[in-house]
Amino acid sequence: MRDIILAGNWKMHKTIEESKEIALCLKEKFTELPLNVILFPPFTALYSISELLKGSNISVGGQNVYFEEKGAFTGEISPVMLKEAGAKYVIAGHSERRNIFNETDELIKKKICSAVENGMDVIFCVGEKLEEREAGRTEEVISKEIRIALDGIPREVLDHIIIAYEPVWAIGTGVAASPDEAAAIHKFIRSILDDMFVRGAGANMSILYGGSIKPENFIEFAILDEIDGGLVGGASLKCEDFYDIGKILVECKKL
Ligand code: PEP
Repeated sequence: MRDIILAGNWKMHKTIEESKEIALCLKEKFTELPLNVILFPPFTALYSISELLKGSNISVGGQNVYFEEKGAFTGEISPVMLKEAGAKYVIAGHSERRNIFNETDELIKKKICSAVENGMDVIFCVGEKLEEREAGRTEEVISKEIRIALDGIPREVLDHIIIAYEPVWAIGTGVAASPDEAAAIHKFIRSILDDMFVRGAGANMSILYGGSIKPENFIEFAILDEIDGGLVGGASLKCEDFYDIGKILVECKKL
């Protein structure tokens, strides 16, 4: 059975006080939902939010991590520090990290391994840009991202990874992928994992869809077996919207 997960990436939004306010609202609402929820607040709010959410079904994670545990890496955050602040998860490979901060597949691999070695699970994001999609290169791009980042990793590390398929052109644009196309890519991702590891590795992997999810469109994704949940940006910044997305997931997956 794959884990069904709802994750909210707040990106560079919300002060500590604003983060606490929405986290309190979510804590109250989500107690009634049997759902694994993960929030990725800004680093400044991570510790206070993790304390505030103690005893709830909502975990917190870091939006980014460096692979070294300590040292002269000005501006970076280590997995040890994240874990101390309460993070149980880390995002690696988000398209904003890849495209704005030039993160490579090789660096993403190091981040994944370091986070898992330090006891955290990873949401590993993959997805194609618009021009790559238009050139018919979607599968090639996703295959490369997965094959480099997961090359040679031990099977037990794989158990600590959740993949998020996030077409770059759908992130923050209001234009989501078609649910059927997303499901087809999820299936393709599973086939890559089977090829790289053992048969069945793909079937065991939780794969989330991300890209302009809203309460209005999420049911179409959540009803599909291939889609094990969502990684939500903009709509996770509003308590009501994020909760409505959670309710849809619980209903569709019969949790
Ligand atoms: C994201 O940043 O991972 C994301 C999916 O953003 P949005 O939901 O705003 O498209």
